[in-house]
Amino acid sequence: MRGSGPRLWSGLAVLVMGCLASAVAGAADSVSASDSASQSWVDGRGESRAEARLVDSWASQNLENLLELYRHLHAHPELSLRETETARQVAEAFEAAGYRVSTGVGGTGVVGVLENGPGPTLLIRGDMDALPVSEQTGLEYASEVTALLPDGRTTGVMHACGHDVHVTTLIAMARMLVEVRSQWSGTLVLIAQPAEEIGQGARAMMADGLFENFPRPDFTLALHVDSALPAGTLGYTPGFAFANVDSVDVTFYGRGGHGARPHLSIDPIVAAGSFIGSVQTLVSRRIDPLEPAVVTVGSIHAGTKHNVIPDEAVLQITVRSYSDAVRDQLLDGIAQIASDTCRTFQCPRPPAIGVREEYTPSVYNDPVFTARAVALFESAFGSERVVEMPPTMGGEDFGRYARALNVPGLMFRVGTQDPEQWAESRVPGSVPLPGVHSSRFAPVAEPTLSTAVRAMGILALEMLGEANPPASAPDSPPGASE
Ligand SMILES: [Zn+2]
Repeated sequence: MRGSGPRLWSGLAVLVMGCLASAVAGAADSVSASDSASQSWVDGRGESRAEARLVDSWASQNLENLLELYRHLHAHPELSLRETETARQVAEAFEAAGYRVSTGVGGTGVVGVLENGPGPTLLIRGDMDALPVSEQTGLEYASEVTALLPDGRTTGVMHACGHDVHVTTLIAMARMLVEVRSQWSGTLVLIAQPAEEIGQGARAMMADGLFENFPRPDFTLALHVDSALPAGTLGYTPGFAFANVDSVDVTFYGRGGHGARPHLSIDPIVAAGSFIGSVQTLVSRRIDPLEPAVVTVGSIHAGTKHNVIPDEAVLQITVRSYSDAVRDQLLDGIAQIASDTCRTFQCPRPPAIGVREEYTPSVYNDPVFTARAVALFESAFGSERVVEMPPTMGGEDFGRYARALNVPGLMFRVGTQDPEQWAESRVPGSVPLPGVHSSRFAPVAEPTLSTAVRAMGILALEMLGEANPPASAPDSPPGASE
């Protein structure tokens, strides 16, 4: 059913992904990699400690440079699809490190490839875009950048989602993994992705031949900052971590008239009101209560005056799910309830239902890949600094890569908050710290950065190690292919 009906949306409409809904470490049951073959893979090799030492020493030697790069990126944020300067810097860094570099992939995307002998191909993704937010952190290196929005308004621009940390880590990986290339064998594909915040970048890079023109990855890896964790800690979520995100527009058509004589009109506001109540029964009555699902009517526009019944009512709905089966059930259900509502209220025309194309599929962290990362992180950082996080209904377009390739993917989290302030914020009744997308979100540069670089470095070396088995057939995400 979805996709049927006139498409009402404008291609310019911006869908801000809420790319990392704030989540507090919880006690979700861990997904275990229980079969014995997986277990030996998870245990990895004995060299992981030596690798961790190598990565640690590289990170300490290069920390000052990385901090400088980070502060520069933070002060020079660029909006989605306009990441030209950031992309130029990434490309320069990749080239200087000796990578084969391609620019302009899917807009401003950059791909750096390093072939270093036989072995697996690892993709590491960093996203480059910032948000239309005026920074209020008071940091010395706070952004003063402004930009013009499509509607002509001026906005501040800020790295309020930590993508500056992600780009710094990506450039650090480019440099580090060249310098320690005698320690690994395989192919590295580093990508700087545009437009994550509007859910378009991953799709644009893939449409531009990411997996045809460059080596095809056996694993996909990324990190994201997390404002729910103190700096120096790492978070992980096995299995589904981010939701399928759909934006749906529904227009109810009525027949306008005088508010005092409703019997001579057909009131689209009343039809919309009835629909808003009924549509919630999709989640409460039709979807398995153990399956996450959200239907939120975030916007309703109709009418101009107390006593005028308008001709139409326009609704904007966000729809969240993990499995593809539940996604289909929700989208089909919205269309069915909207159509039946129109019949009930004798609307002169069926409703117009449009599912926007900015759809972002769920992120599924391969449980075996995740367990392997967790084992490494715990041995390198101590288990008290590695925290299991509950999944979120937020969206992230990183899941597209692993889904398209049918290979294991992992996005882990890196804490950003000052540990003392974080501890204070946990006391019941205290004010929460500013989270991602807030104008006051201010990651503590250190130890956020060194933790990100160390974690990504040891995991990359592990995945590209000589004794690495070929990519395991990933567990298919439950429901993803149903
Ligand atoms: Zn983000």
